[in-house]
Amino acid sequence: MQEKVIISVNDLIKNYGDFQAVKGISFEVHEGEIFGLLGPNGAGKSTTLEIIETLREKTSGKIYVDGFDLDESSNDIKKIIGVQLQSSGYYPGLNLTELIILFGGLYNEKVDPIQLLDTVNLRDKAKAKFKELSGGQKQRFSIATTLINKPKIIFLDEPTTGLDPQARRNLWDLIKGIQSRGTTVIITTHYMDEAEMLCNRVAIIDSGKIIAMASPDKLIDDLVESGFEKPKEVKQANLEDVFINLTGKHLREE
Ligand code: ADP
Ligand code: MG
Repeated sequence: MQEKVIISVNDLIKNYGDFQAVKGISFEVHEGEIFGLLGPNGAGKSTTLEIIETLREKTSGKIYVDGFDLDESSNDIKKIIGVQLQSSGYYPGLNLTELIILFGGLYNEKVDPIQLLDTVNLRDKAKAKFKELSGGQKQRFSIATTLINKPKIIFLDEPTTGLDPQARRNLWDLIKGIQSRGTTVIITTHYMDEAEMLCNRVAIIDSGKIIAMASPDKLIDDLVESGFEKPKEVKQANLEDVFINLTGKHLREE
């Protein structure tokens, strides 16, 4: 099947003063996929995402989002993407319903707060304030805010960092659900199990350069084919399996 390209990045460079954080990277994201940007801290993932999100200036390179040229049509791009807002923007006096109505107003978009909260399993918290939520609930709410303008593409920068294993799994289901409704997802994560589980394709970035890009399956097969062997016998389960088995897979945040 011919994939439709929804984001194309060509030879992107970003300099901060005389430090080059992104060193001429190129990649394409296909419509409807979950695309992962992986790489150590400081690799240039957030810089790359924020440039595509029109929130940061690039130094050079060409970027197209759903056919729009970033240099000419950043306002058109803003309308079709969903970006996680900084939590500092979550006015402390407002509850989740009021926040969604407020953000909807910013996007000039009529939203049904309860329906949106339902999508992220937070209907019970409609009257709660952001600061009263657990870590997992905060992330789910933050993902809900990316969906307010019914975007074609959402950007998630380390959405599961710091979450417990159950909350992490819960977000995986949520992100898969968003994909299944046709939205393209770009995500960064430091958890390789998560990338393997969620992403159709990943790009691995190191020091501002893409050093590998393919499906997780293909990257693993290539490594095995190169003669790689795990240094020790792998058990049938690991400590995370023990944890999930003991504490349950269900939502346990309240
Ligand atoms: P990642 O998200 O992969 O951890 P970043 O894109 O945040 O990486 O950062 C890439 C590099 O650029 C890092 O070395 C970081 O210190 C540097 N950097 C990021 N933002 C700025 C900035 N505003 N000014 C100067 N250097 C920055
Ligand atoms: Mg980052």
